[in-house]
Amino acid sequence: MSKSPYRTIELKRGKQSINRKHPWIFSGALHKIPRDLEEGEKVSVVNEAGETVVTGHFGKGSIAVRVLEFGPAVIDEQFYTKKIENALSVRVAIGLAKSENTNAYRLMHGEGDGVPGLVIDIYKNVAVVQSHSAGVSADTDLIKNALKNVLVDAIAEIILKNTDQRESIKTSATVEITEHAHRFEVDYISGQKTGFFIDQRENRRLLGSYADGKKVLNAFSYTGGFSVYAFSGGASEVHSLDSSRSALATLEQNLKINDFEKSNHKSIAADALEYLNSDEARDASYDIVVLDPPAFAKHRSARHRAIQAYKRLNARAMKILKPGSIVFTFSCSQVVTPELFNHTIAAAAIESGRDIRILHHLHQPADHPISIFHPEGEYLKGLVLRIE
Ligand code: SAH
Repeated sequence: MSKSPYRTIELKRGKQSINRKHPWIFSGALHKIPRDLEEGEKVSVVNEAGETVVTGHFGKGSIAVRVLEFGPAVIDEQFYTKKIENALSVRVAIGLAKSENTNAYRLMHGEGDGVPGLVIDIYKNVAVVQSHSAGVSADTDLIKNALKNVLVDAIAEIILKNTDQRESIKTSATVEITEHAHRFEVDYISGQKTGFFIDQRENRRLLGSYADGKKVLNAFSYTGGFSVYAFSGGASEVHSLDSSRSALATLEQNLKINDFEKSNHKSIAADALEYLNSDEARDASYDIVVLDPPAFAKHRSARHRAIQAYKRLNARAMKILKPGSIVFTFSCSQVVTPELFNHTIAAAAIESGRDIRILHHLHQPADHPISIFHPEGEYLKGLVLRIE
């Protein structure tokens, strides 16, 4: 076995989690972490025999090593090129990447594509690279070159959206994308996340199939993904609610470019819970309500309060709806498991006093794959409910 070019850390005896291929090694599983290791530095994790069992990025937090390879590896441009090539082949296989109707997709999804901390979203001919770890941030030049190797002429611009640095000097830049033949303007510089919530693509399509002749409230609408699909599915009226006025301005633009500017639509700039508590919301007598809030809990410590917030929000929506109405409800908090989410919605149902059935369990789409060894990667869950 060739010698690793990186500094080494020894795995404690009996720590078998790497045999289960979990992509994180916690600091408690290691001993003798050299004090001068730098945040984001590439390291080799060795067993008692001195063999490299993992190559990864070092971090000073509780996740000490994010695994890039089980075994020895050289983490260079070629390494990232292979990872991105593999990720692209998955997107081609699932009908994205070469699709005529959809040109926005996630190309790299962190652990789900073998590079913890790295997200790459493609918006037509723009690639937005987002880093969630110091290791990935340190490797952005390698990653950019790898991306060019794989996508060659398909990409006109690569934008880095690191948590700690922003390379672009522009404050705003937009590209028009298509998703299932619907058109959306995406601000990939100043928009939320990488600019658009591509993870709701299939769930928006499902909403469209329910919308014919219906009055829809799209709460937490952002730039109107669900609203556009509601109208294309034949909705008679749509109210889009968001606390961000700039999101609503883009939403109205998105209705226009899909030829829905003459449709029966209202934008509501408000706090979602406050609105649902108002007489106005009750009197609106909606047939369908979408609840797609931002991650209420980004960390485990915030989980309990987040659960309470999901429960309040959902119970309130359930209470004001008439029999036969439908709720599309979501949570994108990674620390809220699908099971916990189901329990929370059941608790909301009890509080509302209504009889409720689950019609669909919803998830993130296939371009947000989950490593089977990293169930934490399943972050988006949703339920479609029918209220009696
Ligand atoms: N459903 C959207 C994505 C929603 S992202 C889509 O398909 O694109 C969550 C949105 O909730 C953001 O636009 C954010 O501005 C909004 N938001 C956050 N807190 C809010 C609150 N308290 N009331 C209303 N909107 C809120």
